Amino acid sequence: MSSDAVVIIGAGLAGWNLARELRKADPAVPIVVVSRDHAGFYSKPMLSNALAGKKTAATLVMKPAEKIGEEVQARVLPHTTVTAIDGEARTVSLSNGETLAYRDLVLALGADPIRLPLEGDAADTVLSVNDLDDFARFADHLEQGPTGQPVQRVVILGAGLIGCEFANDLLARGIAPTVIDLADRALPRLLPVEASLRLQDKLVAAGAQFRFGVGAQSVQRGPNGLVVTLNDGTTLETDLVLSAIGLKPRTDLATGAHAKVARGVVVDRLLATTVPHIHALGDCTEVEGTLLPYVMPLMQQARALAATLAGQPTPVSYPAMPVAVKTPAWPTVVCPPPADAEGQWQVTATEEALEARFTAAGEPERLLGFVLQGKAVSQRQALAAQVPPLLA
Ligand code: FAD
Repeated sequence: MSSDAVVIIGAGLAGWNLARELRKADPAVPIVVVSRDHAGFYSKPMLSNALAGKKTAATLVMKPAEKIGEEVQARVLPHTTVTAIDGEARTVSLSNGETLAYRDLVLALGADPIRLPLEGDAADTVLSVNDLDDFARFADHLEQGPTGQPVQRVVILGAGLIGCEFANDLLARGIAPTVIDLADRALPRLLPVEASLRLQDKLVAAGAQFRFGVGAQSVQRGPNGLVVTLNDGTTLETDLVLSAIGLKPRTDLATGAHAKVARGVVVDRLLATTVPHIHALGDCTEVEGTLLPYVMPLMQQARALAATLAGQPTPVSYPAMPVAVKTPAWPTVVCPPPADAEGQWQVTATEEALEARFTAAGEPERLLGFVLQGKAVSQRQALAAQVPPLLA
């Protein structure tokens, strides 16, 4: 069986951005997009500010599968899971029993939410929101909590970027969230202490609560809803538990195809895996040892890979890529320094703004990363232009 098609597994932002870029770069190549979900085009970052915007799972879909498929002239196979890859025969097996041949295969598989091993008879009610179907379930539960009434209290596991964004969004809906984390402050890996504290203070002033240095052990049904028991022995009553403790790249298909996998699917700067004609991008991917599960990196990857697949081998490059934390209570932009960077934070703050600059050790003029909050977020472009590219 031979084919001249590029088969993309996954219809998230990585899959669809690649399909779009590839169609621009090569008007003729057959493109097939296979996805185990609905395959419609939506912006995943909007899941954590959808409540404030009064969006529903249906209105979050920007283009249904047929429409975007038509637009990029791709064959779309929604609700179809790829169950195995044969890298030698260059075929994939589908859940509907079909076998599909490819010229080039692209893994755009995303990542799974990490699940805490919780005890208790309501542990299976803990939700996470990582795609549209999850959001639909979350929105339904908010309408009708365990007592049949609309939810008023939510416990969020994890005070990272996603946990804080959902806390802020729930506040917009009049729900008081309690955010718990084993760490001692919010977003500890992305923010210097002063910036974490400012974000926490603003969210608390808006009605959220934080419990740091504790983890959840069990979730049980109680007479007034759910009871979360923490590892310090205290309990919290709530109507819903939302887990936001991180993501794990989906690597099983790559492992099955004998491609190298570390934390994510290992690719070089051409986004090639260690198996010929199999590429990967987006949240499932580790480029030169780095996982960057954000939108800007996957857009850079999509452009580079489209050119490569169209016959112009193009290594991916990354400029400085600041990420906006969607917490309107205290707008925050983060451009983290490289993980191995040596240096120090310098923080200047006023009532209305905070600016933190991470500069290289012994070179106070060399900016390697920054955090902007409040009114200072307007400095985003100016500071990003001073930070060296992550991958030149
Ligand atoms: P996904 O969107 O997860 O897509 C994976 C696709 O693979 C899905 O279509 C799935 O159905 C399919 N799939 C998986 N396995 C199979 C299989 N075996 N067979 C067939 N199909 C399969 N980033 C930012 O930069 N800024 C933000 O503000 C921001 N906010 C976020 C808010 C939330 C709530 C979340 C969860 C993430 C946020 N992110 C943000 C991260 C960003 O959304 C992700 O980096 C990006 O959407 C990942 O896209 P992806 O296509 O790689 O993965």
